[in-house]
Amino acid sequence: MKGIAVLGSTGSIGVSTLDVVERHPDRFRVVALTANRSVQPMLEQCRRVRPAYAVMVDADAAETLRAALSDMAAPPKVLSGPEALEMVAALPEVDYVMAAIVGAAGLMSSLAAARAGKRLLLANKEALVVAGAILMRAAQDNGATLLPIDSEHNAIYQCLPSNRNPENAGLQRLGVDRILLTASGGPFRDAPADSLAAVTPEQACAHPNWSMGRKISVDSATMMNKGLEIIEACWLFETAPDRIQVVVHRQSVIHSMVQYSDGSVLAQLGNPDMRTPIAHALAWPERISAGVAPLNLFDIARLDFEPPAPERFPCLRLAYRAAAESGTAPVVMNAANEVAVAAFLDRRIGFTDIGSVVERTMDRLPAEPVDLSGLEHVLEVDQLARVEAERCVDRAVA
Ligand code: NAD
Ligand code: MG
Repeated sequence: MKGIAVLGSTGSIGVSTLDVVERHPDRFRVVALTANRSVQPMLEQCRRVRPAYAVMVDADAAETLRAALSDMAAPPKVLSGPEALEMVAALPEVDYVMAAIVGAAGLMSSLAAARAGKRLLLANKEALVVAGAILMRAAQDNGATLLPIDSEHNAIYQCLPSNRNPENAGLQRLGVDRILLTASGGPFRDAPADSLAAVTPEQACAHPNWSMGRKISVDSATMMNKGLEIIEACWLFETAPDRIQVVVHRQSVIHSMVQYSDGSVLAQLGNPDMRTPIAHALAWPERISAGVAPLNLFDIARLDFEPPAPERFPCLRLAYRAAAESGTAPVVMNAANEVAVAAFLDRRIGFTDIGSVVERTMDRLPAEPVDLSGLEHVLEVDQLARVEAERCVDRAVA
């Protein structure tokens, strides 16, 4: 029986995680659930799953939840504040931590799980983008097993040799030539470039293949999501960005591929449903049912592949720039993107302003080196970049 903490349980990945976990009551026990401030979904999850701990980061939301749970026999202990996320991620009765908080806000709890030597199921790609070296080292030094939940990275993980270890890590030593990172292209892959300025948040969040949280949906529409995923893959698989090729594959049936030096290309296929990578990481190295419909290749009939159009997706270019500059460049890029996406969702800026805000912020805060003891530095730069990006948002509106 494995104890699980689901960080970000009320989100898209959190809900899918509970769906898989609840199919296997003989294997998994939910120890802790966490959310930012959405009380109602957390209340329902607490009544259904009966965790020992429920964290609401927002103190007022925690108070409301506590009151609402008062009639429950043996209610969960309700905690609040960001430190509570780190506390539940490191509990001794927790074996597996699903890191499914959105944005850099998930960094400290992901890191706490790695430092506590847990099996870390990492959906929170932003944690690797802002502090990849620190997080990977913490996992290695403390015997944590890091399994990627992002569908592409989970696919790559499944296509790599299972005997990877710190000694043979690095793709070239495994006979890997390239990673073929697939991208759906998002809702605007066929839209004329001059129509993008007028796109609304509703249109940007209507992804053709996946149902996801609003931030990652906008990231998919700008292709910043693929940019973040390139940096994520560099850390997870110890490779350089020039070994990663983005392949636009509109059906989202192949979730990514690995090309070997002997000419073999291994792919992982499946219906676009995040319960597959979640179940993979929960059961690894075994396999369990995920509630996902079996893939019917005759229904799909064809698979298309195209190169991305970087001139239409400036965020993809900015991510390559951040990966090349390294150090604090990905921190700045990520923070500026979080600010810009929130401003777009609030209708303060237009869709094409997102890339401009990110680029201007990167221009204003040149990359500085980060070493393994540089967590404070990373957090400082993250805050500075948010302030600078807010200024760029104001200027974009003016
Ligand atoms: P979401 O917006 O649906 O859910 C986010 C969760 O995090 C919620 O439970 C929310 O309460 C919590 N949260 C938000 N802000 C917080 C804060 N400041 N502090 C603590 N908790 C906070 O997001 P999602 O789509 O489930 O994505 C979660 C992560 O998984 C993201 O990093 C995303 O990039 C990644 N991911 C998602 C998908 C997907 O299909 N949704 C696929 C691949 C990767
Ligand atoms: Mg992905």
